[in-house]
Amino acid sequence: MTTTRDRGPEAGEPSGAGPVAAGTARPAVADSSTAGPLTAEAGPVTEREARQVAEAARESEWGKPSFGKELFLGRFRLDLIDPWPAEASTRSAAAEQFFTKLDAYLRSEVDGAQIERDARIPDEVFRGLARLGAFGMKIDERYGGLGLSNLDYCRALMLVGSVSPAISALLSAHQSIGVPQPLKVFGTDEQKQRYLPRLAAGEVSAFLLTEPDVGSDPARLATVAEPTEDGTGYRLNGVKLWATNGTVATLLVVMARVPAGEGRRGGITAFVVEGDSPGITVERRNAFLGLRGLENSLTRFHDVIVPRENVIGGEGKGLKIALTTLNTGRLSLPAMCVGASKWSLNVAREWAAERVQWGRAVGQHEAVATKLAFMAGTTYGMETMLQLCCLLADDDRNDIRIEAALVKLYASEMAWKIVDELIQIRGGRGYETAESLAARGERPVEVEQILRDLRINRIFEGSTEIMHLLIAREAVDAHLSVAGDIIDPEADLRRKAKAGARAGAFYARWLPTLALGRGQSPSAYAEFGPLAAHLRYVERSSRKLARSTFYAMSRWQGKMERKQAFLGRIVDIGAELFAVSAVCVRAHAERDTRPEGLELADLFARQARLRADALFTALWDNTDPVDNTAAKRLMAGRYAFLEEGVLTPAADQPWVAGWQPGPSTVEDVRRRIT
Ligand SMILES: Cc1cc2nc3c(=O)[nH]c(=O)nc-3n(C[C@H](O)[C@H](O)[C@H](O)COP(=O)(O)OP(=O)(O)OC[C@H]3O[C@@H](n4cnc5c(N)ncnc54)[C@H](O)[C@@H]3O)c2cc1C
Repeated sequence: MTTTRDRGPEAGEPSGAGPVAAGTARPAVADSSTAGPLTAEAGPVTEREARQVAEAARESEWGKPSFGKELFLGRFRLDLIDPWPAEASTRSAAAEQFFTKLDAYLRSEVDGAQIERDARIPDEVFRGLARLGAFGMKIDERYGGLGLSNLDYCRALMLVGSVSPAISALLSAHQSIGVPQPLKVFGTDEQKQRYLPRLAAGEVSAFLLTEPDVGSDPARLATVAEPTEDGTGYRLNGVKLWATNGTVATLLVVMARVPAGEGRRGGITAFVVEGDSPGITVERRNAFLGLRGLENSLTRFHDVIVPRENVIGGEGKGLKIALTTLNTGRLSLPAMCVGASKWSLNVAREWAAERVQWGRAVGQHEAVATKLAFMAGTTYGMETMLQLCCLLADDDRNDIRIEAALVKLYASEMAWKIVDELIQIRGGRGYETAESLAARGERPVEVEQILRDLRINRIFEGSTEIMHLLIAREAVDAHLSVAGDIIDPEADLRRKAKAGARAGAFYARWLPTLALGRGQSPSAYAEFGPLAAHLRYVERSSRKLARSTFYAMSRWQGKMERKQAFLGRIVDIGAELFAVSAVCVRAHAERDTRPEGLELADLFARQARLRADALFTALWDNTDPVDNTAAKRLMAGRYAFLEEGVLTPAADQPWVAGWQPGPSTVEDVRRRIT
């Protein structure tokens, strides 16, 4: 295979503040959330408009310190995570009681196999969970919720997911992206008082952003909220796809576009909508590879009247609300991934010790042993990252938007690998359904189901590709702030000159800091004992990461935003470095109470360092250019002969179904929980 060798920063770093900084997205020239189509016919939305919408939605301020941001800038701020943040020492009596009851309820009343078989969570389980308070885990006690910390909330999701991933997805969609979280952060007192007690008591909520034409790209949003003539509200029209809980929810967060008009900027706006408002039809319940119990809808809005007071946070604030909500909301997905990994580790351990082939337990064959070690090390790494993010979110002193995004990205990718390895270790039994195993008299371990259930985590709440871009954008934010205007084609000469001066001053200070650091001193971080070498590695690698980023920006400038493979590797290295830092700090903090944590931290760090080193190499030694050419040729049909010899899917249906505005013509398939 042809490979491209490129001179990396090690080989030839720029010596000064040469040509400067590009980024994944340029600073928005305007709030362009009003760009794009307003009808069912999605009009053309350019790449630039799509970027501007995403850019306008980001939180641009950094009010609090961020370990992740500093790491990407080559500044290893161990002090931001060490000492290990303390867990609030007193868990409330209500929370304590909740965990005990939840555990007992899951053991005795919830049959995960039945949910899988029937593709349905029974009404009784909805009611039971409501009685326990599970729908109000993250809602403040003053509104009838349990007011759990992020850490406890994630623990609860993990526990629930180990019995039924569909139920943890239900609870997470309800609380992390559904009505409670945006109201908690952006709602008025009146909105909180009106809706939160209902939700805490067990009414289900859903979050509706996606549309047939809107997946990763909200600029194409076509659902419209037109102000009513009397000014008391809005008239919603549109179709929303894949809303988790959408078939059962009684309260919805709906993202819709308010047209700009006389005295209003309009833009993508978040609304709380009563699920049974006239004009709402649940047209389909969708079915998937996994999460068979999910109540996921295709929902139509036809002239649905929403009162003005149901706008969350103001017109045009919808995407910002969605993104900010996800800062901590994103933690629930990795919680479920960590839960699945713990479960997998348990199955792998017991099975690998018991199953004998070729005269040994399979776990004693090196090929399987390395998989077990990967599973154990990575589960420890992921759990630690998650715990750290939760603790940082709970003590609220740090900005965790980068760390939470990193743990979502990392855990969804790694858990998938872990479960894949589990299937391999289980051999043919890994591929067999639990029901089939039980029918043959074997332990009904639903490994193939977990693989199917987990797969979606790499796609929703920000696909891996989008997470790479989102994190890369934050990683280069400091550069864009000082030097963005230099490469902005819309910046005039005055702005460019100002940026040049700003950038010169910044880089004259910053670049020398990347040359030397504590990681080069053999005695640095000695207080971490056997883990010190790993922290020295992180310190050195953080500077190397920043040098690599700077080198790439100098080289590619405005084109850098298109170097997605490069940016993805930069982000993945950052994730490994964050993970290594986290395990070292945690294991060190727990060295007296859990000394075996030191072994796991060392194991994980060794594995992670090899992955990071491989990624560093691939930054400059890769097939990206030939891959790009090949993909273009492939899409142009040049390699069509490769598809010969098989029957390909019929082309008689569109890839994306169009929709027409107007009243629904199909039966409402809404499910009412009784
Ligand atoms: C089971 C399930 C539950 C869901 N629940 C909800 C929900 O509750 N609420 C809701 O609003 N939505 C929900 N979704 C939608 C989900 O968030 C989207 O599927 C997701 O955002 C991806 O959008 P898409 O599927 O349209 O993929 P597309 O955006 O069409 O992307 C296709 C591929 O291209 C990649 N890609 C797209 N843009 C870029 C880019 N700029 N650069 C690089 N790669 C790119 C993507 O990563 C992906 O690999 C759910 C989906 C499923 C399947």
